[in-house]
Amino acid sequence: MPISTVNPATGQTLRVFDALSARQIEEKLSLAQSAFPAWRQVSFAHRAGLLKATAQLLEAEKLQLGRLLTQEMGKTLVSAIAEVEKCAIGCRYFATHAEAMLAPTAAPSAATSSFIQYVPLGAILGVMPWNFPFWQVFRFAVPALMAGNTVLLKHASNVPQCALAIEDIFRRAGLPEGVMLTLLIEADQVEEIAKDPRIAAISLTGSEPAGRSVATAAASVIKKCVLELGGSDAFIVMPSANIELAAATAVKARVINNGQTCIAAKRFIVDTAIYDRFSALFVDGMRNLQVGDPVLPATQLGPLASAKLRDDLHGQVTAAIEAGAKLLTGGHLIDGPGFYYQPTVLEEVPRNSPSFHEEFFGPVAMLFRARNSAHALEIANDSPFGLSASVWTQDAGERDFFVHHLETGMIFVNAISASTPELPFGGIKRSGYGRELGELGIREFVNIQTVWIG
Ligand code: NAP
Repeated sequence: MPISTVNPATGQTLRVFDALSARQIEEKLSLAQSAFPAWRQVSFAHRAGLLKATAQLLEAEKLQLGRLLTQEMGKTLVSAIAEVEKCAIGCRYFATHAEAMLAPTAAPSAATSSFIQYVPLGAILGVMPWNFPFWQVFRFAVPALMAGNTVLLKHASNVPQCALAIEDIFRRAGLPEGVMLTLLIEADQVEEIAKDPRIAAISLTGSEPAGRSVATAAASVIKKCVLELGGSDAFIVMPSANIELAAATAVKARVINNGQTCIAAKRFIVDTAIYDRFSALFVDGMRNLQVGDPVLPATQLGPLASAKLRDDLHGQVTAAIEAGAKLLTGGHLIDGPGFYYQPTVLEEVPRNSPSFHEEFFGPVAMLFRARNSAHALEIANDSPFGLSASVWTQDAGERDFFVHHLETGMIFVNAISASTPELPFGGIKRSGYGRELGELGIREFVNIQTVWIG
């Protein structure tokens, strides 16, 4: 994929970048490696000061940065600015809590003294997606940096200006040279870098094929990686829920970030007693969304990030209908420039069709009718993915039933699935392994070192 900025709202190519040469990559790898010994000795307090300075820059420049996000991947400007603000919150959170999270833990044993210490690993490679061009990078990089690692970023090819802006912000905040570096490279240059001995570990957020490829490279040299991959999250609505609130939230949960979110709700599983009412409200909500220029404050749904993503999504919708699904609204490309797609709702997608198990990465929802809570759970768990789930019920017994039996890395009850710095984020099954954020996230990229004093 060429490394370029193509405005998804207009289809215009705005800037094209050359990928780094082998010699330039070599220089960056050496720089990241040589920056590590000094950086790992820096105190938590000093690192925290630099991260707080980063947060200040993000806040001061959120309007310009927000415009860059919107221009490169089409999210609404309102949500782009909120994303930059969230990165500042993430910086401050780990600046405040990293030291306590990584303080040596007492581990009593037969030794005179024994404890566990958390030691940085070295240069961590982050392979990141375009859908949250800032937050995906910050949620991986900030804990890694606070732990004393250096960071190399291979960002998605369609957000090169965001990638460079992130490097620039960290540099202006005062991070020493080589501690956080952006590599403008293509996907086929990743494997060799992933295997390089100067890379200590890898974090990848993206699609299954990318995850498989990077995990295979890492495994071939016995190197740790964290994978945050796709999802087809269930949104379960039971009769005791506030149906109006659940339906309005369901629309938001599906179209947040123009429908391109790993933890967006994608399968809406609704108890038969309230199915018709929920379906009418939900379809109405999807149909009435304000679709258009992502820069305008009133816009609720902007374009997809690329023509390929839009065309692939349309192919999936067409295949689902051919397999027997009913189209309740949408189902078409929107005429004119830009990569817009109608908000779409499908129902009765056959359980035995490939569509049932696919991730729809755009504003397309699948509705399913469940006979009861056990049936709802069975549909929800029938997925190759296991990222998150959202359950809507006021019944404590029903809530506990789903909390105990859902096969996902995260469960949200009467709330939309979301990521927040305090809580671990990640999935099971083909949604990946490992965690980002929270105490468990910051401990992914450290040596958990046992010390025995005899
Ligand atoms: P993608 O094509 O896998 O791209 C993600 C990153 O991987 C990009 O930097 C990409 O570089 C790189 N890449 C692609 N193929 C690669 C390969 N064979 N080897 C090494 N690197 C490779 O994914 P996407 O289309 O951008 O993102 C959508 C997917 O990401 C969805 O499935 C979504 O659910 C998932 N996602 C998951 C999470 C999560 O936290 N679980 C969050 C966001 C997104 P190029 O751009 O140069 O191809």
